[in-house]
Amino acid sequence: MSELPLPPATRRLGASDIEVSPIAWGMWRLTENGRTAAEAARLVHAALDAGITFLDTADIYGFDGAGGFGDAEALLGEVLAAEPGLRDKMVLATKGGIMPPLPYDQSPDYLRKAIDASLARLKVDHVDLWQIHRPDILAHPQEVARALDDAVASGKVRTLGVSNFTQSQIAALQHFLGQKLVSTQPEISPLRIDCFENGELDQAMMLGLTPLAWSPLGGGRLAAPETPRDKAVAAALDAVAEAQGVSRTVAAYSWLMAHPAGIIPIIGSQNAARIAEGAQALKVRWTRQDWYAVLVAARGVPLP
Ligand code: NAP
Repeated sequence: MSELPLPPATRRLGASDIEVSPIAWGMWRLTENGRTAAEAARLVHAALDAGITFLDTADIYGFDGAGGFGDAEALLGEVLAAEPGLRDKMVLATKGGIMPPLPYDQSPDYLRKAIDASLARLKVDHVDLWQIHRPDILAHPQEVARALDDAVASGKVRTLGVSNFTQSQIAALQHFLGQKLVSTQPEISPLRIDCFENGELDQAMMLGLTPLAWSPLGGGRLAAPETPRDKAVAAALDAVAEAQGVSRTVAAYSWLMAHPAGIIPIIGSQNAARIAEGAQALKVRWTRQDWYAVLVAARGVPLP
């Protein structure tokens, strides 16, 4: 049975010269449970020590519906300020463009201020990747592109990406940008397989975008599956996990990483041991049969 290639030790972020780990760590949940800067620092170290050097945050992380906007960035900023050497050990990604209580704002003025505010909270002079978090339907892509090109020209942002964009929205923004987008960040997991068949990953390969998978465990559902479908997907992952001596979680990450688009799963755990465990995903081997067995379980119907 032929095996799919293992992921490389590092990947290029889009067409840029930035090398990233093939698995990332996300800080959506960083401010949960009143986490202190010392506790947050331990998680950052857990990721870096495991070779997970690509870190993803967003200005809205920490927002609880009423307040907390910017808190996850600010907490990471405290960690970086206390240990300045850490900054150069990571590829730092953040996002903006969701402005509570309004849904989305990508007017040039808002974008400029949002990027400056993120840098101030993070206490850094630039981020390596800045992503539009969700598309603002009321913003003309030409104006968005101009503001983003300016951010790169100013040195505040090294590369640009998008999240939750449709293929047409990506194409429209790319049309007006003076540089190539490097990444797209949709929800992808063994429980969320739309991307595999709706053209999003094909477009990513065509445009050279690195796909970053958010909620790679379905927001944790894969760890405790409840529905018959979720249980069937978990069982298909378990077959490979047990054979190779890894957890289901690790098998799930590696299943995404086996796709030819070079998907980078963003680990969502805020538990040091679970973050470190994620690095085992680089060693899991998939055959076509096993890979498609997970897909078929997720589809719920056989392949045509
Ligand atoms: P996820 O990996 O699907 O879910 C993580 C959750 O699963 C955590 O609450 C974790 O709890 C729990 N979990 C339970 N058992 C686990 C196990 N064995 N191993 C690992 N986790 C386990 O990811 P996510 O947190 O929903 O999202 C990941 C990242 O994607 C975010 O941090 C963020 O960077 C990004 N994201 C982006 C968007 C977007 O719109 N662009 C949206 C959502 C998320 P513990 O912490 O206790 O381990």
